[in-house]
Amino acid sequence: MLMDLLQLTIAEAHALLVRREISAVELTRAALERILAVDNTLKAFLDIDDEGALAQAAVADQRIAGGNAQPLTGIPLAIKDVLCVRGTITTCGSRMLENWVAPYDATAVARLKAQDAVLIGKTNLDEFAMGSSTENSAFVVTRNPWDPTRVPGGSSGGSAVAVAAGEALGSLGTDTGGSIRQPAALCGVTGLKPTYGRVSRYGLVAFASSLDQIGPFARTARDCALLLEAIAGADINDSTAAREPVPSYAAMLDGDIRGLRIGVPREYFVAGMEAGVEQAVRAAIDCLRELGAAIVDISLPHTRYALPTYYIIAPSEASANLARFNGVRYGLHIEGENVIEEMELTRGAGFGPEVRRRIMLGTYALSAGYYDAYYRRAQQVRTLIRRDFQQAFQQVDVIAAATSPTVAFPIGAKLDDPLAMYLSDVLTLPASLAGVPGLSLPCGFADGLPVGLQLLGRPFDEATLLKVGDVYQRATDWHTRRPDLTALTGNEP
Ligand code: GLN
Repeated sequence: MLMDLLQLTIAEAHALLVRREISAVELTRAALERILAVDNTLKAFLDIDDEGALAQAAVADQRIAGGNAQPLTGIPLAIKDVLCVRGTITTCGSRMLENWVAPYDATAVARLKAQDAVLIGKTNLDEFAMGSSTENSAFVVTRNPWDPTRVPGGSSGGSAVAVAAGEALGSLGTDTGGSIRQPAALCGVTGLKPTYGRVSRYGLVAFASSLDQIGPFARTARDCALLLEAIAGADINDSTAAREPVPSYAAMLDGDIRGLRIGVPREYFVAGMEAGVEQAVRAAIDCLRELGAAIVDISLPHTRYALPTYYIIAPSEASANLARFNGVRYGLHIEGENVIEEMELTRGAGFGPEVRRRIMLGTYALSAGYYDAYYRRAQQVRTLIRRDFQQAFQQVDVIAAATSPTVAFPIGAKLDDPLAMYLSDVLTLPASLAGVPGLSLPCGFADGLPVGLQLLGRPFDEATLLKVGDVYQRATDWHTRRPDLTALTGNEP
């Protein structure tokens, strides 16, 4: 019998494992069978490690038998392919690293392994995490399980789909400008971008180092709490990983948000927002009011500068970070007459069009004569955006808005129009620039496609976001809805 992996949360699977009603090996087999059934179509995964996963599961079963289970012991998880997992191919969705094998584990990955979680494979993404649809992957197009003609969002599209389609119980993604929150919204799962510095970036291939954060996808806020608790905290290998103590996030989900102040920023109900999205989000905010929160109108006046600011700062940092792919040290190498020609040939062949566009934008913005006009200016505006949030959080505890102005769009719809693609992130970019945490929760449907509610919090106050998310999920059932994949799996759920 194939287990109904689609319905199981991490917390529920853990309970079954410790009661020995299922084994980690069974759970892992079920995940692998599910991948076999659906992933030919959905293409969430770039690499599946059957053997490694089953071996890890067997170790997890021993640990459980010894009475030493931790919350993630034996839980099948998927990892975005921009994170190093020792001994496995880490492509970043790029030809440049097509055959590059990671020589070490990212800290977040090592911390999952320390709990004997089962890492089943690496998930597809936009090349070097640049994009909002996962279509910029050099390898495959990942499809949205709610409608396979549509994108899953991005850049962590594969990690969102793996959870939405029951191929894994949780996953890790990364969010630089929205890449966890937006695909979580478009795929109907729960995703958390932690505060900048909450999770070590060691072993994450860098895109924009002042923005990049690793975070979890799962079916519930509670599961995200368990995953965050596992991966967060200081790290000797990353000086930007904060020393701030890591609370027991799951233990703080006490089901009570009475008196909590939730701000609704008027600038977040933007032109171009789909009516069905706005309705679902407003209904979710009403629900939070009924659950005891005080809803307050607020303003984040510099919101409209976030997109241009981000598209100066992120490409600038990317152009510097990606300079290391020079055909000598990592991955692809193409022979030429001399070192310059080799570099040109390698970078020309190794990077796709969006990555090349970012490198050119960033190099331009950082060049002599333009640095002050663009890069310095953008840093100044970033400070104003950060202050917007500081001021808002003097009035309110949490900010609520939509995660994405639209539901999942058709594959190909925005490929020829980079600006339209960039606009997918108008509602997630400000929090990224400010460094504050953001949670996206399923809050309804528009045209049969999932809508996400975005909750933003004070720096290092993930606990409050998770608590509000948990309270909302106790009161509603949007997060329990599953896409109908019977066409792919036959009779199986
Ligand atoms: N879509 C945004 C970009 O293309 C954000 C990507 C991300 O968060 N990694 O840069």
